[in-house]
Amino acid sequence: MKTFDLAIIGAGPAGLTAAIYASRGGLQTVIFESGLIGGQIVLTSEVENYPGFAETMSGFDVIEGMRMQAIKFGTEFLEEHVSSITQVSTNGLSMFQIETLETTYEAKSVVYATGASPKKLGVPGEERLTGRGVSYCATCDGALYRGKTVAVIGGGDSAIEEGMFLTKFAEKVYIIHRRDQLRAVQTIQKRAFANEKLEFILDTIVEKINGDKKIESLTLLNKKTNQITELNVNGVFIYVGIIPNNELVKDILNLDESGFVITNDDMETNIKGLFVAGDIRKKTLRQVVTATSDGAIAGFLAERYCDMLM
Ligand code: NAP
Repeated sequence: MKTFDLAIIGAGPAGLTAAIYASRGGLQTVIFESGLIGGQIVLTSEVENYPGFAETMSGFDVIEGMRMQAIKFGTEFLEEHVSSITQVSTNGLSMFQIETLETTYEAKSVVYATGASPKKLGVPGEERLTGRGVSYCATCDGALYRGKTVAVIGGGDSAIEEGMFLTKFAEKVYIIHRRDQLRAVQTIQKRAFANEKLEFILDTIVEKINGDKKIESLTLLNKKTNQITELNVNGVFIYVGIIPNNELVKDILNLDESGFVITNDDMETNIKGLFVAGDIRKKTLRQVVTATSDGAIAGFLAERYCDMLM
C-alpha cells in the first residue's frame, strides 16, 4: 500500500495551499480531487480582491497558479474519488487509511478541504430544468444568454457579483431577493445599483420555475403584498448560499448546526492529525484569501504533526 506523509482531500485554494506549504516543507504529499480542480472558485467569473493582484483575474487563473506551484514543490495529484477516511494503527503508529474507488492509501496526516456546494432553492421545476435554463454557474453558462433575459435568485455577494457579470451578455438581469435589504457588502451593492441592466425585485420569493423543455417563466410571490406574478425569463441563476461538503467526516468530526466543521485556530479537529481547511470550516469570512490562510496553517501544522510522530 502506498504511504504518504500527508493526504489532502480537495484541490481548491485551501487544499492547494496546504499542498504548497507541506510539500515545500518536505512532506511527501498527495492531493485527491475527483471533480474539477479548483472547487467553487473556478465557477467565479472574476476575483478582484485577492491581495497582490491589482488586475482582476479569473478563478481559473488563480487556481492554475496554485496548482503549478504545488507541482513545483513535488505534490502528487491523483484524480481519484475518496470514499472513506479511517484512522488505523499500523506498527503502533496512528495512520489514516484513505480508500478511493480504485485502491487504498495510507497517510500519517490528512487535510480535509472539500469546500462547499451551491445550495438548491428547492422549488418545483428546479431539478427538472437544471441544464435547461436553470444554472448555478454564471461563468459556465452566462454566454448562452447573449441578448436574453435572465433572473438571479439571492441577495448575497455571489448573487450580486454574478448578476453584474451576466449583464455582459444578457439584455436584462433581474435580481430576485426575499427581503428588502441585500446581504451583499456595500461596495458590491453600490456597483450593482449603478448598473442599468440590473433590476431588483425585492421582498419576493420564487414559487415555481416553469417551462416544458426549457425554462419559460418564474412564478413569483411578493411577500409584502401576497401578489403572485409571472416573470418571463430565458434563464435563472441560483445563488442562495452554500452547503458544506462534509460527507466523509460528518460522523466523526464536530460540526456546527449547518454542518460546517468546527476547528481551532490551528485547523485542528477533534481527531489528532486530521486537519480541516477552507469553506467547509465554520468561519465568518469565506474568501480565497481566508481559504489559502487556512491551507497554509493546516500544511504547516501537518508538517509539525508528522515530525512529532518520528
Ligand atoms: P450567502 O452570503 O449565504 O447569501 C445567500 C443569499 O441567498 C442571501 O441573500 C439569502 O437571503 C438568500 N437565500 C438563502 N436561502 C434562500 C432561499 N431558500 N430562497 C431565497 N433566497 C435565499 O451566500 P453567497 O452569496 O453564496 O456567499 C457565500 C460566501 O462566499 C459568503 O461568505 C460571501 O461573503 C462569500 N463570497 C464573497 C465574494 C466576494 O467577496 N467577492 C463573492 C462571492 C461570495 P437572506 O439575505 O435573506 O438570508
